[in-house]
Amino acid sequence: MRVTFYGVRGSVPSPGPQTARYGGNTSCVEVRLADGSVLALDAGTGLRQMGNTLLREGRPSPVHLLLSHTHWDHVLGLPFFGPLWGKDNHIFVYPLANDAQERFQRNIFDDIHFPVSVEDIPARMEFVKPDTLKWRIGSATVSRIMLNHPGGAQGFRIDDDGGKSLAYITDNELRAGKALVTVEELARFADDVDVLIHDSQYLMADMPRKHGWGHSVVDDVLNLGVLAEPKQLILFHHDPDRTDDALDAIGERSRKWIAAHSKATEVVVASEGLTLDLSNVGLKK
Ligand SMILES: [Zn+2]
Ligand SMILES: [Zn+2]
Repeated sequence: MRVTFYGVRGSVPSPGPQTARYGGNTSCVEVRLADGSVLALDAGTGLRQMGNTLLREGRPSPVHLLLSHTHWDHVLGLPFFGPLWGKDNHIFVYPLANDAQERFQRNIFDDIHFPVSVEDIPARMEFVKPDTLKWRIGSATVSRIMLNHPGGAQGFRIDDDGGKSLAYITDNELRAGKALVTVEELARFADDVDVLIHDSQYLMADMPRKHGWGHSVVDDVLNLGVLAEPKQLILFHHDPDRTDDALDAIGERSRKWIAAHSKATEVVVASEGLTLDLSNVGLKK
């Protein structure tokens, strides 16, 4: 399994000199399975570059698109996804958190928000509707879990037959008032994965002002890491106002904290262009 980050930012794209190192594109992660299957986790603005890469490398189809939810920062890249504009390409779309979100295509490609209507997309976009919360894609079993986020969102766990695993949990508020899912349930969901990617948008200083906004404080994500014990805990969905220097400081503090609380886990601050080859993950400290 190979994981590449094309967009690591939350809420809104944030280009500029102060975010150039970690990147300003919004949520998009490519997962390539052991059998070569290509998964796109979210379709934020990072999806544009992912599409360019797939076209350049001659593997534009099929693509399996898994959306956490349909807030702008998770779908805005879709109209600019190169493989969408090739008639021989096939994009599979999986269930969303609720029926309203499953109308996202019609809301984007409606001749008003984008100059092409959904009927005129050249590629074949096919909704796949598994009956259960677990299904197969290529060489992997995928499962999903509902998250604490306004309007609904879902997290995914991908267990590849090659033995590698990843959990993608964004956008989620670990300390939500009325929690759909508890920290303990999420820790069980992501138990022992190689890579756990989690929304880490806020710091304690942002609270209580941003309580209920559907995102997590870094400290709570580190605690989840101690419970789930991933080999790598990836801080993701950075606040658009968080500068590169601020993210460096978060990374440094988080690595020190986790070293004192867990022998099994390494913390990484997600950055655009970061690639994890999971065959190299797993060095216990
Ligand atoms: Zn988001
Ligand atoms: Zn959201």
